[in-house]
Amino acid sequence: MPRSKLSELGKMNSAPPYPPRLLPLRLPRVCVAVIGSDPNEMAEKAELLVRDNPFLEFRLDYLSKPALAIPRIKRFFESHPGTVVIATCRRVANGGKFRGSIASQLDLLNKAAAAGCQVVDVELQTAAKCKPQQLQKLRTRAALILSFHDFRATKKLDETLEKMLGYTADFYKIVSTATLLSDNVTMIKFLGREGDRHSLIGMCMGEQGIISRVLGVRAGSVFTFGSAVAGEETAPGQVTAQELRNVYRIEQVDVATRVYGVAGDPISHSLSPTIMNAAFRRENVNAVFLSLHAKTLKDLLTCVREIPIHGVSVTMPYKETILSHLDNTDAHSTKIGACNTVVRAQDGKLYGFNTDTAGIVRPLERRLNTLESARILVIGAGGAARAAVFGLKERGSEVYILNRTAAPAKKLAHQAHARIIKRADLKKLAFDVIINATPVGMGNQRESPLQEHEINARYVFDMIYDPAETRFLKLARARGAQIIPGIEMFVHQAARQFEIWTGKPAPFDEMLRVVLLALQERANRFAAGK
Ligand code: NAP
Repeated sequence: MPRSKLSELGKMNSAPPYPPRLLPLRLPRVCVAVIGSDPNEMAEKAELLVRDNPFLEFRLDYLSKPALAIPRIKRFFESHPGTVVIATCRRVANGGKFRGSIASQLDLLNKAAAAGCQVVDVELQTAAKCKPQQLQKLRTRAALILSFHDFRATKKLDETLEKMLGYTADFYKIVSTATLLSDNVTMIKFLGREGDRHSLIGMCMGEQGIISRVLGVRAGSVFTFGSAVAGEETAPGQVTAQELRNVYRIEQVDVATRVYGVAGDPISHSLSPTIMNAAFRRENVNAVFLSLHAKTLKDLLTCVREIPIHGVSVTMPYKETILSHLDNTDAHSTKIGACNTVVRAQDGKLYGFNTDTAGIVRPLERRLNTLESARILVIGAGGAARAAVFGLKERGSEVYILNRTAAPAKKLAHQAHARIIKRADLKKLAFDVIINATPVGMGNQRESPLQEHEINARYVFDMIYDPAETRFLKLARARGAQIIPGIEMFVHQAARQFEIWTGKPAPFDEMLRVVLLALQERANRFAAGK
């Protein structure tokens, strides 16, 4: 929204009656919720935020003495007249922190409006208990958001709206809780049905609500909420405003935006949204990539069909079980018995691929001219090891498998025509490459799948990328081997996914850059104990 329009809005509060019906067309898509331990802290935070965020929400209920904030809010507007601010003072009974009476809640909102806030938020439960004239009085000063929060589920959205329409308001805000990904479908369909007829604000809370937080604005929600910084969320599952803008590019999301996501359980640690959204942005692809915490495959598949989702990066625990739900799978994924990439075709059919192999083969081919006849040891016999063994055998490598448990190693060796090796026999052979395809060494600096004296190879590749340099890689370096960190596999398999989904070459360097940055930030946060 142009600044000039915002400043118009900013000035409007001094000239009631306010024509709120114009407001929805003019508001930015993200409102940033601002909290503080005291009025000064809240206003100072707002002053820092306002440069990038002309639309804020002051959460008065987070203050121990909200009334003290009124003069500070007035001063804030003197220096930032172009800012649009919602004043919210949610009561404890309705999910907020304000312990005062309804009369004092309304009194505070009236004063906040007089101090300059152009919009006020009143819960449906409060509205139900106050006199119509009280709400009317508030509405002469500011636009009114009538809000309802369901902290348990996403249900009865139409009935709730019906009840809310019994009160005259400028916006109707319905926020539910997603316990399933498909709750987002319910919210999005509701917004699509009713968004043209009423000024709605709708989204789902919770980790699973991310779909509605990003896509709600194209379905019919006038705007959505973001937190000022991570750790200052005012609702479960809220993401930062900066993330909504920079990672998910919410201002550009439109009907043509294709939706992709990484699905698994758990999923919160995944770097896929960071890397894929950066790739879409760099290559100007009108697409958004979300983190999909799927508790069941059925839930995921419902969303894929209904949202619709055009491509899924599949991770634990669904890589194998998703196969039987796909319409077709490439021969390579069938052999591996696992799929990490799903594409939804125009006709709605689902096709499966496995890009883990590209993630293993590409970094090796960059270093060794050819993998033909290369002698390679793969440690592990799980999904990732299978992708490695089949991919390397297809390229003519001589592959050995070492696994803790004999049976899966035997099965894989038999299927892929590879060899089995016992740990005691490692000293008899030198390898071109050793690959760790086990989780041994993940998240610590103590464990390694091999001891230093057992490492006899030119290259050592660890699929683990956290820590960036594992103990195994450190030992390999000490033995004079060249090391290949797991992050290369991650970026190459993601690059291949990007190619499958978009038909364009992937911006590999950009993808590597953002993911290294994200890992560094994660390490810094960990070091700072956050
Ligand atoms: P998986 O299917 O569960 O297989 C795990 C394998 O590791 C099995 O062969 C298992 O042996 C072995 N293993 C597990 N714990 C062990 C231990 N304590 N000591 C010895 N062996 C052990 O897992 P996966 O999907 O193949 O993943 C393997 C690793 O690759 C994980 O660390 C994963 O994070 C990583 N990975 C990285 C990327 C990337 O992009 N960089 C992509 C995919 C996977 P048993 O048969 O004896 O149980």
